[in-house]
Amino acid sequence: AAPDILLDVNGIEVIYNHVILVLKGVSLRVPQGRIVALLGANGAGKTTTLRAVSNLLKGERGEVTKGQIQYRGERIEQLTPAALVKRGVVQVMEGRHCFAHLTIEENLLTGAYTRKLDRGGVQEALERVYQYFPRLKQRRGSQAGYTSGGEQQMCAIGRALMADPNMILLDEPSMGLAPQIVEEIFEIVRDLNQRERVSFLLAEQNTNIALRYADYGYILENGRVMMDGEASVLASNEDVKEFYLGIS
Ligand code: ATP
Repeated sequence: AAPDILLDVNGIEVIYNHVILVLKGVSLRVPQGRIVALLGANGAGKTTTLRAVSNLLKGERGEVTKGQIQYRGERIEQLTPAALVKRGVVQVMEGRHCFAHLTIEENLLTGAYTRKLDRGGVQEALERVYQYFPRLKQRRGSQAGYTSGGEQQMCAIGRALMADPNMILLDEPSMGLAPQIVEEIFEIVRDLNQRERVSFLLAEQNTNIALRYADYGYILENGRVMMDGEASVLASNEDVKEFYLGIS
């Protein structure tokens, strides 16, 4: 791969339960420092693609049966999720997955488990998260289960940030959230991208917002990439407008 390609997914097939072919040869690239959107309808294969990258398919009885996945030129298909986190690749799962009974701050602390930080280091990492998510600082002592959906999504991204990632795989950050909160979250994603140089591979059904914040997009349909291009080009494409940007 070219030196500035961080993630290179090359022709992967994914099968669930030994029989159901869900990804039928997906290829995509995330260059260093970019936000890349993975778009498509419910069931198109976005989550499956992210799970393949972060090696989270096994728990779902899924496996990559063809193709290759490289991160910084290294094959990563056999790496455990923890080993990936150590290399800087962190997934934020759909549905947020904060620990409901832990406080926001305790949730954030769980994100630093792969790092050998002393007390000062942990405090510094927390302060960095709170700088991006002032709301989390306000709610630091609240049990996550009692915070809003937007705060839980922020908590999930904040927890990923605690691992000091180079790349965040972000699954449906807009899911179930009010438009204003979605906007707030995407603004923070942009900030993290610009100021911390975190690259993003971002799965979204909300094509509109994803294309406003991403640099590049891939549209998945039925387990295949149907179209890809610069976000601005996709946003003005007639087919994309008709099928994915809704009737306005
Ligand atoms: P969503 O918006 O629902 O997350 P998606 O584009 O992310 O949609 P996937 O979740 O990747 O799509 O699902 C792609 C296909 O794989 C769907 O047909 C789905 O039913 C199927 N699928 C997903 N997980 C499993 C599983 N564990 N076992 C069998 N089939 C699965």
